[in-house]
Amino acid sequence: MATIAITGSASGIGAAIRDRLSREGHRIVGVDLSEAEVEADLSDQSGRQSAVDGVRAACDGKLDGLVACAGLGPQVPDSRLVVSVNYFGAQATLHGLRDCLERGERASAVAISSNSSRIPGLESPIVDACLEGDEDRARAEANERDGVFAYAGSKLALSRWVRRNAVQPEWAGRGIRLNAVAPGATVTPLLQAGLDDPDHASSIKDFPIPMGGFGNPHDIAAAVTFLLGPEAAFCCGTILYADGGSDALIRPDDY
Ligand code: NAD
Repeated sequence: MATIAITGSASGIGAAIRDRLSREGHRIVGVDLSEAEVEADLSDQSGRQSAVDGVRAACDGKLDGLVACAGLGPQVPDSRLVVSVNYFGAQATLHGLRDCLERGERASAVAISSNSSRIPGLESPIVDACLEGDEDRARAEANERDGVFAYAGSKLALSRWVRRNAVQPEWAGRGIRLNAVAPGATVTPLLQAGLDDPDHASSIKDFPIPMGGFGNPHDIAAAVTFLLGPEAAFCCGTILYADGGSDALIRPDDY
């Protein structure tokens, strides 16, 4: 039995990951705004600190797995919140709990990115501000743009943070695997909120998915479970797309 912490565990993809890993017999420490073992708000520094402190106390300082899944969608009216939760909340959780993973067995961490992180034309200064750790600047850049830019920027920065850090002595060098899953449109309350928003509905509905439809949260949970588990022992810095083929369709040769 492994001990695995999951942010965003109360809904959608995080809840599906939680259900699957619980059924497999693992001990879960969920983190969310409510309905979780650790109730904390990852949108600001004090909330992130209480999330990290709460998980550390719940797992006695030793974690075998960590999934940074909590996130907000592009339709959220305040784009600043999107970068604060999706990038800075995830990064702070991964960084803040790395020492607990170091004490775990065959430890593995997975960040939930998005296939929209690489949609051509959406790269913006938000990415650099995030990666430089400048939350005020990232929020200011996000505030000047549509939520789609804030969302894609936060997720591209998170993927790059994963790839830059996965190979470092603190992660790979300590035997901790760090990877990401990049889901495509998946049926959750987040996607439904986008479909219910007239400014976002048509772009979601018209987005091409070669496999023919939206994903199911269980499809994403399966990809995360693979990266957490021993079958992925040689995966390090991987961004695993689980998106029905959209990314391959849109940028087949950008590889
Ligand atoms: P969801 O809304 O069903 O679940 C997100 C969870 O994150 C919720 O339980 C919510 O309470 C939590 N959360 C939000 N803000 C938080 C905060 N400030 N502090 C703590 N917890 C907070 O959404 P989902 O679709 O399951 O999304 C999960 C992850 O998957 C997100 O990072 C999202 O960006 C990513 N993703 C989703 C899709 C999709 O189509 N659903 C596609 C690509 C990536």
